[in-house]
Amino acid sequence: MRKRLSKEELINGVLGGDTITLSRAITLIESALLSDRELSEEVLNAILPKTGKSIRIGITGVPGVGKSTFIESFGSYLCEQGHKVAVLAIDPSSQKTSGSILGDKTRMEKLAHHPNAFIRPSPTGTSLGGVANKTRETMLLCEAAGFDVILIETVGVGQSETAVKGMVDFFLLLMLAGAGDELQGIKKGIMEMADGIAITKADGENVKPSKQAKNAYQNALHLFPASESGWYPKVLTCSALASDGLNSVWDMINEYKNKLESNGYFDQQRRNQNVDWMNESIERKLLQTFYNNEQVKAVLPQLKKKVKNGLITPQAAALELFKLTGD
Ligand code: GDP
Repeated sequence: MRKRLSKEELINGVLGGDTITLSRAITLIESALLSDRELSEEVLNAILPKTGKSIRIGITGVPGVGKSTFIESFGSYLCEQGHKVAVLAIDPSSQKTSGSILGDKTRMEKLAHHPNAFIRPSPTGTSLGGVANKTRETMLLCEAAGFDVILIETVGVGQSETAVKGMVDFFLLLMLAGAGDELQGIKKGIMEMADGIAITKADGENVKPSKQAKNAYQNALHLFPASESGWYPKVLTCSALASDGLNSVWDMINEYKNKLESNGYFDQQRRNQNVDWMNESIERKLLQTFYNNEQVKAVLPQLKKKVKNGLITPQAAALELFKLTGD
């Protein structure tokens, strides 16, 4: 077993930008052990003043749209420009043994070997809330370690997009050009969340259909109500394979950042996200405390049966359980 790092070693290593210590600190926050949790809280508190100085970008799209290829190219482009890029993921279904979307770093081989890049697979876990929480904390550690661009990939499985949207500054939706079915394959709700859409694989014979898709999506976006921030989502085309259009994606993100910083919305959004994060943490903790209560555990199965058999109303059963916890 490796020697445990002390609190000071962890804090100094992360703040010094040492990626080996950063990885160890992330493993610590992902641990379910209570003693690890206490130490990770202390580390997170200590590094907090050094967080926040990055642009946090969420990237989503259906499987096969080209997310990992895009992140590989876009991340490499940013690294070449001197940025330090951390790539994280949210994939609540991933298990370490079966390999998560980013667990297989060979998919982003070029980026993984770049000295300015740091790639971390999705944390494992069954609850999306728990997984999202770990990704948020990982993001803070990466910022403290000097990463100024955080890319958070989500697999297109319903709720994880909402979780990512709740932790990033800019939400980028990748889409494909498809003859006649431009608006299919992606839920309207996800399009409404997007701050920008990039039509991927705009190369070779796909250039013309991509331009048509761009116009179709831009028109579709006009139908949505204007966002609170005053930003109108943009639609661009790009090719990750040809490294084409990546600069316009970056320009769009910077334009967004400048606009929202000048009207105060950038900070406001982050502050709101922090309050949401606190609320989610409270809810998760309450649920855990409730279901871990010994008396609740003992009585719950019988009460479930009674509810099923119509012997007690669901409401009365819930109240009975709450009484057991002292509420
Ligand atoms: P993901 O499932 O969204 O992560 O998609 P991948 O990045 O694995 O890409 C799916 C497929 O699309 C792969 O075969 C890629 O080689 C291909 N692909 C990705 N980006 C491009 C691109 O810019 N142009 C072309 N022509 N193919 C691409």
